Amino acid sequence: MLMNVDVVIAGAGAAGLSAAIELGRRGINVVILECLDKDDYRGPRTYLINSRSMEHLRRWGIADRLAERNPIDPEMQPDVIFATRLNGYLLHRFDRPFVGTERVEEAAENAQWIPQRSIEETMIELVNTMPTVKLLWRHALVSFTEVEDGVSCVATDPDGKEFEISGKYLVGADGSKSLVRKSLGIRLQGRGNMLAAFVYHVRVPELKRISKVGHSSFYWFVNGSYGGYSGVTINCVREGEYSIGSFPCPPGIDASDEAQVRKVIYAGFGEETPMEFIGGRSYNMHAIIAPEMLRGRVAIAGDAAHLLPNLGGFGFNVGLLDGVDIGWKLAYLLKGWGGDRLLLSYQNERQEALNWVAKIQIENVDVLSHDIYMPGLEDDTPEGERLRQRAKEIIVREKTQEFHSLGTQKGYRLTKSEIISDDGSPPAPTDAIQYFQTSRPGSLAPHAWLTDGSSLYDHFGPEFTLVVRDGSAAEVDSTIAVDVPIKVLVLPDPAIAKLYDTRFTLVRPDQMVAWRGDELPEDLAGLMARLTGRAASAATH
Ligand SMILES: Cc1cc2nc3c(=O)[nH]c(=O)nc-3n(C[C@H](O)[C@H](O)[C@H](O)COP(=O)(O)OP(=O)(O)OC[C@H]3O[C@@H](n4cnc5c(N)ncnc54)[C@H](O)[C@@H]3O)c2cc1C
Repeated sequence: MLMNVDVVIAGAGAAGLSAAIELGRRGINVVILECLDKDDYRGPRTYLINSRSMEHLRRWGIADRLAERNPIDPEMQPDVIFATRLNGYLLHRFDRPFVGTERVEEAAENAQWIPQRSIEETMIELVNTMPTVKLLWRHALVSFTEVEDGVSCVATDPDGKEFEISGKYLVGADGSKSLVRKSLGIRLQGRGNMLAAFVYHVRVPELKRISKVGHSSFYWFVNGSYGGYSGVTINCVREGEYSIGSFPCPPGIDASDEAQVRKVIYAGFGEETPMEFIGGRSYNMHAIIAPEMLRGRVAIAGDAAHLLPNLGGFGFNVGLLDGVDIGWKLAYLLKGWGGDRLLLSYQNERQEALNWVAKIQIENVDVLSHDIYMPGLEDDTPEGERLRQRAKEIIVREKTQEFHSLGTQKGYRLTKSEIISDDGSPPAPTDAIQYFQTSRPGSLAPHAWLTDGSSLYDHFGPEFTLVVRDGSAAEVDSTIAVDVPIKVLVLPDPAIAKLYDTRFTLVRPDQMVAWRGDELPEDLAGLMARLTGRAASAATH
């Protein structure tokens, strides 16, 4: 068998699926090779799809579908509870920090607390409706060679039989042990082995009964067991099922030994109760990123290209953003709308965004349970009460950015991209917690809700959007004659127009601002050629 496609993607996780969706939406022929079967167990992973990722799901039309799929026990509110133990003292309760209580002005979607598999299944459902995308389960990429006008790949089918598949490009979205990255000889760099941890998927029928600190889908315990080094956390999977980890795994504990792990978990509960192990593992937390995410016609994305600490919930989410980025850029290249510089920008832009997230994730690892614990914390005395109050203050001060992260998710700025036209204006502030909206090029286009309840983003086109602060669409339409599709959007409301500083703002398909100005350039086609990497750098105005 010999298959010929435009893009071969190895891996049907967040990165591979989002790349496939961006390509499939533009009619590009894609094959996704996934070595696992559809229903294979994948172990406990994330429960958080953040607001920025949700905005992409909304753009793809599947945000509501995801919400319908949520299997999490509705009684377990997505709060974050810090306590000494499950049957101990409450230290602090963050009120729905990830998902919020109501919609916010700056985001088209709130985050959702939902198992990673449910998110992937929703994306797979969409991929399966795309006529140009084929997802092959139990098919593994074995090797690849870059040839003159493409990449020649060898894969195996479910019987282990090898076959050849050729693509113009290959995206290695094949996870942390990435064959693609290793074959290219690329090594992840940064802070490796920051922390030894474990996570197990368990069934604990009596967990809710044990809790004296309230019901929640996320608990984090701080107590004196294991010298304070028992940072047990619980995430609710569904009624009676939980994902329980320890950050760190207490020193001297063998995280692969169920009996030892059981004891660590019981220390978090404060008592023993029937607990059945379903799956899980020990692992190390890293903050490491590939220095190259693109070599010739081969790109790497997601965990293949970076491993970040899972405190704060970004591995899945930045992987999804990698996929979006490489997906629309490859599609533009293949449709003749983009040039080589567009592809090169994948590496530059994603690395800048990833470094921003990694810096904040490293800070999140800096304060763990043993940094909060103080001897006497669990004493039933006025001094114990004073220490618990002190612990609460530390938790609020040090852990807020881990759970309230809109600034981290949406506030990254692209300052080094060759396909963004920097207008030289002063940079807007950035912050891990607070998100400052700006229409400055290199930032996410400012968001607002319209009076009819729709999101401003719903009115952007599928490709570029020219946001016009004042004027009429007809007046601008007649001036636009370029080969890349551009939707002209006149802002309907003066209150929203205030978010856009200049009369014109060009927004990319990924909702990032590429250019702005009070006058359209005479050579708009020339500007578009620069913004899509077909002409020399767009970096200066
Ligand atoms: C315990 C834990 C907690 C986590 N918590 C969070 C969190 O709170 N928030 C967050 O955002 N992230 C979290 N993550 C990280 C998140 O799960 C990963 O970052 C995410 O799964 C990466 O997506 P990916 O698509 O890059 O890779 P993967 O999801 O690993 O997908 C890669 C796919 O490639 C397939 N594959 C591998 N090799 C081949 C091959 N040769 N041929 C074909 N297919 C292949 C694999 O089977 C796999 O399906 C957590 C992870 C763990 C383990």
